[in-house]
Amino acid sequence: DLYAAASPLPSPPRSLTEAKWNDTASYAKKKNLQSWYQLQNGNWELVRILSTSGTEVIVSLPEGKVKHVQADCLSPANPDILDGVDDLMQLSYLNEPSVLYNLQYRYNKDMIYTKAGPVLVAINPFKKVALYGYDYIEAYRCKSIESPHVYAIADTALQEMRRDEVNQSIIISGESGAGKTETAKITMQYLAALGGGSGIECEILKTNPILEAFGNAKTLRNDNSSRFGKLIEIHFSETGKISGARIQTFLLEKSRVVQCAEGERSYHIFYQLCAGAQTTLKEKLNLKNVEEYRYLCQSNCYKIPGVDDTEQFLSVMEALDVVHVSKDDQESAFAMLAAVLWLGNVSFTVIDFENHVEPVVDEALLSVAKLIGCNIEALKLALSTRNMKVGNDSIVQRLTLPQATDTRDALAKSIYSCLFDWLVEQINKSLCLGKRRTGRSINILDIYGFESFETNSFEQFCINYANERLQQHFNRHLFKLEQEEYIQDGIDWARVEFEDNQNCLNLFEKKPLGLLSLLDEESTFPNGTDLTFANKLKQHLQSNPCFRGERGKAFTISHYAGEVTYDTTGFLEKNRDLLHLDSIQLLSSCASPLPKIFASIMFTQSEKHAVRPLHKSGGADSQKLSVATKFKAQLFQLMQRLENTTPHFIRCIKPNNLQSPGIYEQALVLQQLRCCGVLEVVRISRNGFPTRMSHQKFARRYGFLLLDNVSSQDPLCVSVAILHQFNILPEMYQVGYTKLFFRTGQIGVLEDTRNHT
Ligand code: ATP
Ligand code: MG
Repeated sequence: DLYAAASPLPSPPRSLTEAKWNDTASYAKKKNLQSWYQLQNGNWELVRILSTSGTEVIVSLPEGKVKHVQADCLSPANPDILDGVDDLMQLSYLNEPSVLYNLQYRYNKDMIYTKAGPVLVAINPFKKVALYGYDYIEAYRCKSIESPHVYAIADTALQEMRRDEVNQSIIISGESGAGKTETAKITMQYLAALGGGSGIECEILKTNPILEAFGNAKTLRNDNSSRFGKLIEIHFSETGKISGARIQTFLLEKSRVVQCAEGERSYHIFYQLCAGAQTTLKEKLNLKNVEEYRYLCQSNCYKIPGVDDTEQFLSVMEALDVVHVSKDDQESAFAMLAAVLWLGNVSFTVIDFENHVEPVVDEALLSVAKLIGCNIEALKLALSTRNMKVGNDSIVQRLTLPQATDTRDALAKSIYSCLFDWLVEQINKSLCLGKRRTGRSINILDIYGFESFETNSFEQFCINYANERLQQHFNRHLFKLEQEEYIQDGIDWARVEFEDNQNCLNLFEKKPLGLLSLLDEESTFPNGTDLTFANKLKQHLQSNPCFRGERGKAFTISHYAGEVTYDTTGFLEKNRDLLHLDSIQLLSSCASPLPKIFASIMFTQSEKHAVRPLHKSGGADSQKLSVATKFKAQLFQLMQRLENTTPHFIRCIKPNNLQSPGIYEQALVLQQLRCCGVLEVVRISRNGFPTRMSHQKFARRYGFLLLDNVSSQDPLCVSVAILHQFNILPEMYQVGYTKLFFRTGQIGVLEDTRNHT
């Protein structure tokens, strides 16, 4: 209801309300005022009110036509003087069309950043905008520019880190393609510029091309889509210089290595390597063109418009040098990539009447063996048989084609994800934390945004779960804690309703009857299938309002950002993420160093086992934590870390689905604004009293400015006397039990006087 959105909240003192927020009913009666009229297609058009009778209003459209409309199709528009304000808090009418218009007005002028109270809204320009670089960094550093910017957020974080001696976090969220990763890089640029000097800042910046090469891919939504979540922790010494950094990654999308949708690509690095490797390297790794690898050619997409893979490869190698990955290690890493590609080309032939298969000994198989440094026979066995334990006996089971293909793909995925983890570890060694972890830090979180596709699988399930957790963090900070503080201090305050997502989190996390527990339980049952899993959910979770069972193998969750229907196909398999012991043993038998390291990582993971299917015959699978459990643990650890920091939120918005500049689709933007509660944040901030000071501190700080002696030394009496002397209007502050609360900007006069006295 747009009218409700525009109507004033009861909380602010009346005088202010009347001055600022007219209510809509009376608004519609005012002639000649501008108003938003919602068209059939959902877009809004600016009209002028000519006259009103009952619920009908006569308006004039921009092209001069006159039209009779219902009052409830109208929303008050702001006066022209407020066009393009840089904080949505300044809008007199805070309704959806006004917010959309304001953002669009700025976007059209390349002002892509706008404040929404404490949150920075960033709209992806999909083109180079002249807002970055040395001059801008300088300008924000010395505060000669005040317009909203990522630099300003980074600057505030730095200042608050020093002033309050509290770690900070910059939490960047938004849909795929909204600009999170770019925003994270812009933030890092600023911090590197201000905290630079030790040289480590160059290394930190160079982690970006490496992580993007190995962890990003072209998808239908974004040519450079991050397929993992990332937290980068930048540490500062007492002198304010960067002393080190650490990167943590979350849940890389492994399935992409062996399979990706039409029109998408696998990870950039594969294409870069094939295009950019020098002849000697190419020969050593027996590298072919991308078209010759099954894993790369299945999606019919090799190139990204405007991107030169050869050039990219050179910059990745250069970046690897900067973060001290030795040439030998680089070559070993490239060999693993080539091995993965060749594994995809390994094929099988049927060898008996039971459809058991054996790998074909061809260029692909020989190349894999050579690249990982293993015995050819051992490789053949690992890909086509499985050792099983029955009682004390060990038997060898031959595999069928689907089983062998799965085994092959599982090996490829494991090699790739181990390589990714190993690389992150090498980078972290170079960024050398540990030795000098003394000062304070700023964390930057760039994590996949909420996803809702035609079909949604296990990956979306995990990603959306993470987003629920982050949303709760956002709510807690911007709504709950704020309101609790007011209530605690006994001040006059009307609550702003916000969507609490606790129900949805319970749906995921409750034990034993929550989505995650049930998934793990089903993953350990020998007879568990995606269908039995779906049925179990329907049986146990119907009572949660956020859950709805669907026909067949599907179920729907009501997320804070909308409903998503998940197809359970592949859930159990992906959650178990098993690599057969035979494959791990194969890797540990390799002569090359990396496979050995990977195998030992996998063994360690196996020791901390939680989920394993209990094969009737006692299968020799590696036991390990289920993917969902591990992800949940990572997420909890992340939330704990964020809880101990002062958060700064940046909400990235994608203005169109075409990745094109200059196109602003209102409905698309609105849906994203709604998802992340931008309007509510503005409303709560505008009605709030963001500046707080204890009675004592206030009295101490400004008491000396008093002209008349105050009879009492009581801090509250002194404070009140100061407020009176400076004529601070009653609607501009509230006196709480322990603190004084001020509206934005009120303390400025006092500070100025104090500084000039
Ligand atoms: P995903 O969730 O898929 O990783 P994302 O939110 O990280 O998406 P980005 O990769 O940061 O999205 O942005 C997508 C593209 O949008 C970039 O490759 C770039 O072309 C463009 N873009 C984003 N932000 C900016 C900016 N500030 N200036 C210019 N172009 C930008
Ligand atoms: Mg990204």
